[in-house]
Amino acid sequence: MIKAENLHKKYGNLEVLKGVSLQIKKGEVISIVGPSGAGKTTLLQLIGTLDRPTNTDYDLQINQQVLKHLSDKELSKFRNREIGFIFQFHQLLPEFTALENVALPAYIAGLSKEKANHKALELLQLLGLGNRLQHKPAKLSGGEQQRVAVARALVNNPSVIMADEPSGNLDTESAKQLHRLFFDLRDRFNQTFVIVTHNEELAEMSDRKLTMRDGIIID
Ligand code: ADP
Repeated sequence: MIKAENLHKKYGNLEVLKGVSLQIKKGEVISIVGPSGAGKTTLLQLIGTLDRPTNTDYDLQINQQVLKHLSDKELSKFRNREIGFIFQFHQLLPEFTALENVALPAYIAGLSKEKANHKALELLQLLGLGNRLQHKPAKLSGGEQQRVAVARALVNNPSVIMADEPSGNLDTESAKQLHRLFFDLRDRFNQTFVIVTHNEELAEMSDRKLTMRDGIIID
């Protein structure tokens, strides 16, 4: 489903990724672990098409689509449809309701407002937030905010969800619930996840744990 070969990234003279390759199958839950500064977020941003490698002799494919030669505009369209993102801080829009936040990527993908809202409603209900549709983010708990972010990530039926420290800002119980939700979505919908995490429990639950150090995958 995801195939990456020989990804390099430099910031000035600092080589942050030194030739990373990986393959991820549909329905896998992969965690990426390692010390701060190892290059985990940078790697997630490259495979998430939010940024590009600095070398040219690399390959990156998602769902058999070769991404290297796409323009920025083509890439953002691809990203909107194929990749869902979850960040440490939910990054929901504060002025919009939970329902609107979830529906937004679907409007952007070209769904009518009615269809987008319907999809958002279904997802929020599925995630146990049917009674929070009209709440703005500030009125939701941290765990609820993160579940809204999961619904938003799912709204366009992405091929893969990429999460960067998704439970980093949650209390232990909300973190456990969020992790259970990821595996539930995998079991029910064969949803693929790539998750950067410091959470040991999540890393141990995942199908595969990739350990990074100094810009390479060591294990
Ligand atoms: P991790 O997620 O493993 O903590 P990162 O990928 O965030 O690691 O960062 C790896 C290294 O790259 C760090 O030394 C960081 O300071 C550096 N870095 C990340 N982004 C940038 C940037 N935009 N400009 C310069 N240096 C950066």
